[in-house]
Amino acid sequence: MSLPVIHLLPHEERRLLAGHLWVFGNEIDTQKSPPGRFASGDPVILADARGRRLGVGYINPHSLITVRLLSRDPDTVIDTRFFRGRLEQAIATRRPFGIERFGRLVFGESDRLPGLVVDRYGDYLVVQVTTAGMERWRDEIRDVLVDCCAPVGILFRNDSEPRKLEGLPGEVEVGWGTVPESVTVEEGGRVFSVSPWRGQKTGWYYDQREHRLRIAREAPRGRVLDAFSYVGGFGISALAGGSREAVLIDQSEEALERARANAAANGLPIPRTLPGEAFELLRALGEAGERFELVIVDPPAFIRRRKDQREGLLAYERLVTRAARLVADGGWLVFASCSSHLEPHDFRVVFARGVRRAGREVRIVAVGGQSPDHPIHPWIPETAYLQVLYGVIEEK
Ligand code: SAH
Repeated sequence: MSLPVIHLLPHEERRLLAGHLWVFGNEIDTQKSPPGRFASGDPVILADARGRRLGVGYINPHSLITVRLLSRDPDTVIDTRFFRGRLEQAIATRRPFGIERFGRLVFGESDRLPGLVVDRYGDYLVVQVTTAGMERWRDEIRDVLVDCCAPVGILFRNDSEPRKLEGLPGEVEVGWGTVPESVTVEEGGRVFSVSPWRGQKTGWYYDQREHRLRIAREAPRGRVLDAFSYVGGFGISALAGGSREAVLIDQSEEALERARANAAANGLPIPRTLPGEAFELLRALGEAGERFELVIVDPPAFIRRRKDQREGLLAYERLVTRAARLVADGGWLVFASCSSHLEPHDFRVVFARGVRRAGREVRIVAVGGQSPDHPIHPWIPETAYLQVLYGVIEEK
């Protein structure tokens, strides 16, 4: 079977030859190959202006990212075997880190499977399909996952935002076996109960794993404040490391309830939980004169698109200021950003400015990024999104 060909305009192949996997609508020769002739998700061969074939992928004429490449070998047949190969490769990449049973098995473009995310929770897999192209291969992907991982259940958590842009329905459904209301994550000797059905993302943030482990190992003991705590990953890790008291902030009551249960399940002190808006609550804690040896702030992305840059930087700075006021002399402020459009230098600048506005001094003793089960595609900056700064906060 030969696939239809999408032709690029002259010179538009350069980024792809360098290693990128995306083609934007304005890079396509619409005279030679009008995208409108295709249905969302149709497989295509990609060729440069001279007809040289660059690879095989899928098209969505309604998406800004019009073509995504699955393989640079244009003769690759996209079938069960193809997906098995990619999945085995993804699993092998994670094996040295010992995170195949509790970790992200597939991270989209970074694993050369654009539009697909697979998170593993022991016997259960939670899958997110975010593009019309990947949706076509849903059954093949399920079969390969059943073969490779022998799960008890697979949940398709297909209710993410990007699906809407692709014209796909939002749905959460079991794709194989059975999937319980809650599943358990094991991490650093601790257990966390999460909901794959209703939790954030697929239920858990594996990308922060190394930072939670580091907090348990190295952070100053005493009181810990975990802002944007979700189900308590950071606060509970700090308690496990020897913090004697935790305060958790999140706008989700349900997440906080889980956090308390998670602390109990690990035999740790039950955190004080403050439901509500974190900016407000941080300010209130500051006005009440509260101090913590360790403050962790892990907000959602404030810079989702380039045009959010100015507003987003200001929001980060404001949040740093409110958090820095709460840190005891010599304590740590651990501050995370998951905005892929935030340059590391800019992040350090807003961190330093925010601390200064709080009338404090900071030295950055460590910086970090996402866990190795979220590999970075060197040509796709969007895949490098998590940054974490560890600042020691002192009086002037
Ligand atoms: N630190 C967590 C992940 C945090 S996810 C971990 O390692 O597992 C971000 C969390 O912030 C979500 O639980 C969401 O409910 C919460 N949130 C988002 N905006 C908020 C706000 N303005 N105030 C309080 N919580 C907020």
